[in-house]
Amino acid sequence: MLARTFLIVVLAKLTSACIEELLDRPDASEYGYTVFNGPATWGEKFKMCNGYRQSPVELDKEECHKMRFPKINFLGHADERDGGFRIHNTFQSVSVEFSGEQPVLQGGPLGSNFTFSQMHFHWGRYGATKGSEHQIKDLEHAMEAHLVHFNSKYADLRQAAEHWDGLAIISLLFTETKEDSEELSPLVRRLKRIRRGDSYALVESGAMTWLEKYLDGRYLTYWGSLTTPPCNEVVTWIVLENTVEIGWRQIEHFRMLYGHEGKLEENMRPLQPIGKRYVFCPSEEQEEEEEPEVIDEKKKESSEESSEEVDSEESSEEEDDDRKLAKPRPLWLPKKQLYQPFSSYRIVSG
Ligand SMILES: [Zn+2]
Repeated sequence: MLARTFLIVVLAKLTSACIEELLDRPDASEYGYTVFNGPATWGEKFKMCNGYRQSPVELDKEECHKMRFPKINFLGHADERDGGFRIHNTFQSVSVEFSGEQPVLQGGPLGSNFTFSQMHFHWGRYGATKGSEHQIKDLEHAMEAHLVHFNSKYADLRQAAEHWDGLAIISLLFTETKEDSEELSPLVRRLKRIRRGDSYALVESGAMTWLEKYLDGRYLTYWGSLTTPPCNEVVTWIVLENTVEIGWRQIEHFRMLYGHEGKLEENMRPLQPIGKRYVFCPSEEQEEEEEPEVIDEKKKESSEESSEEVDSEESSEEEDDDRKLAKPRPLWLPKKQLYQPFSSYRIVSG
């Protein structure tokens, strides 16, 4: 019996697609959200958390650089799934894994297809106004969901996380309401089955169809990092302007999950400096019918050139933005900022 339990635990660990397990972190208990192991301490063990291009950041809709991005396509994210969904209390969050063929993300600012890995949530201790990681200026959000994707040209999430263009994460912001959200109910009511750390539960096949309504519309995009250790700076963030409503009682169910140090009442990283990074958004006259480009080597080269243009022509950039057609490689990434080895990062002061 003991052997069988052990086998089940090992299998569960192996099949979990959670970021923490795939990124070779030695021990998931090495970070948390208390004063002893919270965000202010992460940089001691995970040097990348002190980098210059960290997430989350505050975003300003009025200040974004407008670009003619191809239409963004969400393929399969909101489908019903015969095998349903598996939710997992990872000690730091709750992740949702999708059964069957994984959804694909393409277009927008992305240069290639990205394969869905998992979705997880961030929330805060206090009320409606504070709970998301990213903040859109002058708006307040109670929670945030991250739909994590890895670049399909890499074998898996672990390998992708070693490359500057490895991950694309869709951020979905939540606003708090008095009434419970019916569409979120199948997922939220299962949370009580995974209050213990590292526990799993299954959720019915139609539990994520609500995503359909939100995965579209305007967004803000920039280049940043994972918001949890090891904080790799490998993420194209796409923060959707559509927000999801969630009842305040439903948020309480998230706060009642247990992490390593008792109840996980909060799992949000504070805002990080945007520094010299650009924030982009699709221009108003977005050509909806425009198909996303599939990356090839020639296009890669030409977009590398344009990356340098952006870097050297800062002053004239604003007038030109609307006329530029987005190239497959993210334009806010000058060559010199491409992925650097872990040891080359210096501590950011102040
Ligand atoms: Zn996250």
